[in-house]
Amino acid sequence: MPGAKRVLVLGSTGSIGTQALEVCAQSEELELVGLSAERSWEALVAQARAHCVERIALGDEHAAARAAEAWTDGRVLAGAEGLVTLVLESGAELVLNALVGSAGLGPTVATLGEGIDLALANKESLVVGGELVTALAEATGARIVPVDSEHTALHQLLAGQPPGAATRLIITASGGPFRGRVRAELEDVTVAEALAHPTWAMGGKITIDSATLMNKGLELMEAHHLFGVPYERIDVVVHPQSLVHGLIQMADGAMLAHLGPPDMRIAISYALHGGESAPLDITPLDLPSVGELTFEAVDLDAFPCLRLACEAAREGGTAPCILNAANEIAVHAFLAGRLRFLEIPEVIERTLSELGSEPVHSFESLYEADRQARALAGDAVARLG
Ligand code: NAD
Ligand code: MG
Repeated sequence: MPGAKRVLVLGSTGSIGTQALEVCAQSEELELVGLSAERSWEALVAQARAHCVERIALGDEHAAARAAEAWTDGRVLAGAEGLVTLVLESGAELVLNALVGSAGLGPTVATLGEGIDLALANKESLVVGGELVTALAEATGARIVPVDSEHTALHQLLAGQPPGAATRLIITASGGPFRGRVRAELEDVTVAEALAHPTWAMGGKITIDSATLMNKGLELMEAHHLFGVPYERIDVVVHPQSLVHGLIQMADGAMLAHLGPPDMRIAISYALHGGESAPLDITPLDLPSVGELTFEAVDLDAFPCLRLACEAAREGGTAPCILNAANEIAVHAFLAGRLRFLEIPEVIERTLSELGSEPVHSFESLYEADRQARALAGDAVARLG
């Protein structure tokens, strides 16, 4: 495809990754040059063949060895360093980071450090890396375009306004499968119930984050860093239909809203096209059949993860990194049946109080805080479980 943009997709076998490949297949302007996964090498090799890419990487070394035996049409890279090498060698003009968790931070840093534009689904790398990530992008001139329905909405709404014209940003939350329940009704919820998201089909980790509302806490931090707006001017409102994704409030009291079907391909396409709308095969909303749009306040008593995230965000330093690492360990343990739902915030709170926030001087101090928080959260899971 002469003139097409060279795109690298990290996490191509996941929920965002597979939808991104669909979007690329629909566009003459996007050419896939590399793909990666953690250990599902058979699916990755099938994608590499279907999309004729030049390079693939697998986080798991053993899986990478199997892939190298099965696929000899290009280069196979391995391990966490392999992901970074893939970014550096791919000649990509745009990297979509659709990895899950703080494992995405290294590739985010490598991408921005090279001055390559980043379509960022991996919100955890912005939560953890914060100002260091945005400063790096500023220094190299690389752009960060979000792949998150609320942030796509805000990005698009703000693009139409002079700087500073919006006085507040508002992101919506579906409320997840347990919306409307009080705390006592969350004691015995099962993994299957927590995974049954009412409006979005997503990977396991973000689906649990949506059930605890930690996802909205991570998104507050994501919005703060992406748009440079202080926390006092960013709100969360529950909107069960997931059709209004974000709103901005103007100085005169007007509110502008972004609506669309709950389909991540819209956000993915917008980011892959550099923050512009491009034709996409999507059925738009039919407003008369939508009928009602409703809004509610968040219940911080039933969903303490959002409160913990707000506190860590305001504290700053390594607190968001610690919160994120402890959450990853707790969510993993919940999914594996080793922790109860309401123990997820308990593990996070214990880890935050044991470790305490430190100022952030470098990415290395964040990697170290991430390591320590994972170890302490693992101990907390063992004590509770
Ligand atoms: P997923 O679990 O479906 O996919 C994750 C992908 O990353 C897979 O390809 C997996 O193989 C790879 N991966 C995971 N850990 C890795 C590691 N340590 N090293 C290398 N590769 C690894 O996740 P998802 O739902 O697609 O979410 C991806 C990111 O996008 C998350 O940060 C999530 O918060 C964000 N996001 C997702 C959605 C959604 O609709 N799924 C919406 C908004 C934001
Ligand atoms: Mg979102």
